[in-house]
Amino acid sequence: MADPKCKKCRRAGEKLFLKGERCFSPKCAMVKRPDPPGIHGKARKRRGGTSEYGKQLAEKQKIKRIYGIRERQFKKYVQQAMAAQGDTREILLKKLETRLDNVIFRLGLAKSRTMARQLVNHGHILVNGKRINIPSYQIKKDQIISLSPKIKESNLMKDLPTILKKYETPQWLMLEKEKIEGKILNIPSAADLGDLNPAGLVVEFYSR
Ligand code: SF4
Repeated sequence: MADPKCKKCRRAGEKLFLKGERCFSPKCAMVKRPDPPGIHGKARKRRGGTSEYGKQLAEKQKIKRIYGIRERQFKKYVQQAMAAQGDTREILLKKLETRLDNVIFRLGLAKSRTMARQLVNHGHILVNGKRINIPSYQIKKDQIISLSPKIKESNLMKDLPTILKKYETPQWLMLEKEKIEGKILNIPSAADLGDLNPAGLVVEFYSR
């Protein structure tokens, strides 16, 4: 049966990297079967021309799926970004990037954001030594993120030190590979966030 997460990628028409290692393997559904899901998938792909609304909606769905956020919370992020001073696109992406579950994923401590969220929900993540079980918790500069001793020594994490040896964190993060703990060095800048246009379409979607 088709994997629900992979269906999201096929619907978006690109890899959203929702399944950890599998996303980098030939088993990835976007390698094996990149057409949209459903019996009309191939036909839909052939149809040309997407409206402006369609593009905005598709981008909104894509970013929401990448970060694994529900509509209500996602809309709240957009509204907060719109209310703040500065580039709305940048503020929105900063909010998403500094979520605890995303930071864990970016630090390489989890293979996917889903796994990161599970680690947080199950109480395995410490922020400045204190257990935090809220995946949306916003991490501030210099707060230390680490694993609970129980999970660090568990079977689930036995390969982590080897994986981390080859892993490069984004520049705005710092990971102490020996200790398996990390922090935000700087809140990501526009350069760290990459292409802001997709976020721009999202902002337009909610401004309609
Ligand atoms: Fe599935 Fe990952 Fe490939 Fe997406 S990128 S289709 S989640 S394996």
